[in-house]
Order: sequence, then C-alpha cells, then structure tokens
Amino acid sequence: MGKMENQTARAELGRAFWRVLHTMTMQFPEEPTPNEQESLRRWIILSSKLYPCGECSEHFIRMVRESPPNVTTRYAVANWACDVHNRVNEHLRKPIFDCTKLKDVWGDCGCKPKEKESK
Ligand code: FAD
Repeated sequence: MGKMENQTARAELGRAFWRVLHTMTMQFPEEPTPNEQESLRRWIILSSKLYPCGECSEHFIRMVRESPPNVTTRYAVANWACDVHNRVNEHLRKPIFDCTKLKDVWGDCGCKPKEKESK
C-alpha cells in the first residue's frame, strides 16, 4: 500500500473512532451508576491502549494519563471527549470544534436510548 492510501485508511479509522466515542458519550446517562461509570472509564483506557495506529495510540495514552476521563455525568464525559479530540485537531492543525455544538452534531444516534440500569 502506498503512503497516500495509508493516510486515507488512518483518516477513515479516525473518523469512525471519533463517531463512536462522541455518539457513545452523548448517549451516556446523565446520572450514570457507578457500574456504568467504571465501564466507560475502562473502555476509554483500553481503547487508548488498543487503538490500531501506533502514533495515534501513544498520543491517546498520554492524553488519558494527563487528563483522566471524567465519567461522572454525560455532560462531563462528552466535554472530556471534545477536549481530547480538539487536542488532536490542534496537533494536526485542524479547526478547533466548538463543544457547545456537541448536541447538534452527535446528539442523534438514530436509535432508541438504552433502558436505565438500576442503581
Ligand atoms: P475528524 O477529526 O475525524 O472528525 C470527524 C468529525 O468530528 C468532524 O467532521 C467534526 O464534525 C467532528 N469534530 C471535530 N472535532 C471535534 C471535537 N473536538 N469534538 C466533537 N466533534 C468533533 N491522524 C493523524 O494523521 N495523526 C495522528 O497522530 C492522529 N492521532 C489520532 C489520535 C486519536 C486518538 C484518534 C481517534 C485519531 C487520530 N488521528 C490521527 C486521526 C484524526 O484525528 C482524524 O480522524 C483524521 O485525520 C480525519 O479527520 P477529519 O478532518 O475527517 O475529521
């Protein structure tokens, strides 16, 4: 595969991952149970370790270490994800996203919300 094709694959992977992260955090409960908080925290940490692009994974691990995900509410974790993405945008010299627009862009997953987990 040529260099251009690799960059296309890397960009596709990035877009797919950001879609999952932002959609998932925007659907996360407003008042998550301790179990839901721990599940999301672990998913984020494991994703940073397993992200299948060496350079991106290193960057992701560092960001998670420096600013651990705040999973206490939907609002907190959605903004955490927005900030992390903006740090990558900055690094890649892409425009900074206005996090007050999260709901407009990522608020609709095209499916019903999950049933509430009992506390
Ligand atoms: P993307 O950055 O993929 O964003 C997709 C859409 O999300 C945008 O169109 C916009 O609607 C929305 N969006 C943009 N910013 C935000 C935000 N802050 N919050 C919420 N929504 C937003 N690529 C590299 O070449 N080098 C790297 O080192 C690198 N590191 C990465 C690290 C991680 C953890 C991840 C997940 C990806 C990384 N990528 C890297 C890929 C890169 O971030 C982009 O996904 C890719 O370049 C495609 O960019 P794009 O312009 O299509 O939009």
